[in-house]
Amino acid sequence: MKLAVLAMTVCSVAVPFAFAASAGPTAVAPVTAIATPKDRAYPGEMRITADMSDLERRIVHVHESLSGIDGKTVLLYPQWLPGNHAPQGPIDRIAGLRISANGAPVAWARDPVEVYAFHVQASSANKSIDIDFDYLSPTSPKVGRLELSRDLLILEWNSVVLYPAGYFVRQIPVQASITLPANWQFASALEPMSATGSRTAFKQVNLETLIDSPVYAGRYSSRLDLDPSGNVPVHLDLFADTPELLAVKPEQLQVYRSLVQQAYKLFGAHHYAHYDFLYSLSDQVEQNGLEHHQSSEDGTDPTSFTEWDKTAYARDLLPHEFTHSWNGKFRRPADLWTANYNVPMQDSLLWVYEGQTQYWGQVLAARSGLWNKQEALDQLALTAALYETQTGRQWRALQDTTNDPIINPRRPMPWRDWQRFEDYYAEGSLIWLDADTLIRERSQGKRSLDDFARAFFGINDGSFTVVTYTFKDVVNALNSVAPYDWTAFLRQRLDSIDKPAPLDGLRRGGYKLTYTDLPSDFQKARDAKRKRLSLLFSIGVEIDDKDGSVLLAIWNSPAFKARLIEGAQILAVNGTAYSADALKAAITAAKGTKLPIELILKIGDRFMVTSLDYHEGLRYPHLERDGAGAARLDDILAARN
Ligand SMILES: [Zn+2]
Repeated sequence: MKLAVLAMTVCSVAVPFAFAASAGPTAVAPVTAIATPKDRAYPGEMRITADMSDLERRIVHVHESLSGIDGKTVLLYPQWLPGNHAPQGPIDRIAGLRISANGAPVAWARDPVEVYAFHVQASSANKSIDIDFDYLSPTSPKVGRLELSRDLLILEWNSVVLYPAGYFVRQIPVQASITLPANWQFASALEPMSATGSRTAFKQVNLETLIDSPVYAGRYSSRLDLDPSGNVPVHLDLFADTPELLAVKPEQLQVYRSLVQQAYKLFGAHHYAHYDFLYSLSDQVEQNGLEHHQSSEDGTDPTSFTEWDKTAYARDLLPHEFTHSWNGKFRRPADLWTANYNVPMQDSLLWVYEGQTQYWGQVLAARSGLWNKQEALDQLALTAALYETQTGRQWRALQDTTNDPIINPRRPMPWRDWQRFEDYYAEGSLIWLDADTLIRERSQGKRSLDDFARAFFGINDGSFTVVTYTFKDVVNALNSVAPYDWTAFLRQRLDSIDKPAPLDGLRRGGYKLTYTDLPSDFQKARDAKRKRLSLLFSIGVEIDDKDGSVLLAIWNSPAFKARLIEGAQILAVNGTAYSADALKAAITAAKGTKLPIELILKIGDRFMVTSLDYHEGLRYPHLERDGAGAARLDDILAARN
């Protein structure tokens, strides 16, 4: 009161009309009675059962009993999801919520501000409550990411949990059970306690561990040991649409085993009691990559093993998710760590969390043999070319893209190149290549980013208690490897606008970016698998191979000027029906001439003739050796002994 009077006195002198009331309503301050999480033991226990057997309707029946309550209680549905870095908890899929105590219904009301919170009107006599609801898993891709099919399923526990407000989630004990279709196998970082029929009960864990431990299950599965001589079990748990897709050749198993050893050589420690790659080979559930501390969700092309030569493009997924056990789960940005799932996360350090993970994921893909050296170089060429041409960097700093998980939960975008999107992954990896080669240059080859990885992620071997970090911690660790003005190095690359992409790592690595009129084998296989015609670095467009519809167009490119926008369909090229070959032939024929390429487009219900004014021919990126002597990049990609 005193402060307000003082302020009014001061202001009334300086700005006479500052406090004059305007016409119209004033805001009602929201009243919220949701306890903030505290680091104290929850005085009861959660028991949760998820019945996953209704595969046809994709309905999960959830029963929860919660002891330790004392009268009125607030239950929370997880909103901010680890790994998503965003408030994407699927609360719209909860239905049929009923709460009871000793068999009698208990009233509940959703908080009008925090809509992920439920006020439960239990009486002080109620020491425990029962909670029943249905989780309505998406029935088609239109509704959301498919999680259940007739042959396999994915259960992320955050979808099926209501938990008490007021506690750090690591302080809430929970005992979970799952009912699966008969004769299905499952895998999870959770340890089973008992099984009765098709129901399995897991050993008690805390809620943080439960949410971090999804279950994959299926009709057709296979479990492969990735570290048979190690003390710490690491398994590849495959779940597939058909048994044929599970055929893993010995040499394929060998490179995944090598991945584990190369990661140990890099980090010099591990942070799990056991680790499971939950690997789905499916067209029936959506392919997804999501990191966890002692497991990861790895969904890639269903023919990853049976068409090994055609699916190299996706083989950095497991190294990426595995790296997250060190970078992201064990060591986590301080502003991203939260006490429970309803406190907002901040994503400012995702260029470390995701950017360096992207870097090590691709380096480990090469070191383990998942990629040969040429494949790793071809992937790097594609990344470098993307950022060399990206127009969005004219207005938007890389740092700002760390807000993208919150701004846009991966919805389609009309002008992705101009908007920029989650560039902290791939451009982040270029910054770390820049840093790695700089450390090598400054230390005359004695030190490298491997030393940073060991010093930063390899502490506390065997522990999986999270250790958080700040920007300053990253800078200090870099300085301990190689003294330099790392603050300026990083901030310049993170915050500057309209500067060239950070490609110094290529030059220092002994390579340069070039373009030829033929794609690399790596790109050819990737585009064939994705059924796309990628002409991003020539006319500036990516096209659906089959029907000629535009999937992505580069801002201000020749395609942009010819009105090739996302959603437009190319019907004809120079008077003949569209085909990928016809378009490529027309681009080649126009090279060095002044003749435009004539296209017939369909945009919505309009047809139009347009001219593509482009004369530089087909252009695909490659890396080429630059200079003589040993290339630092070759050493970065080489297996460690
Ligand atoms: Zn990641």
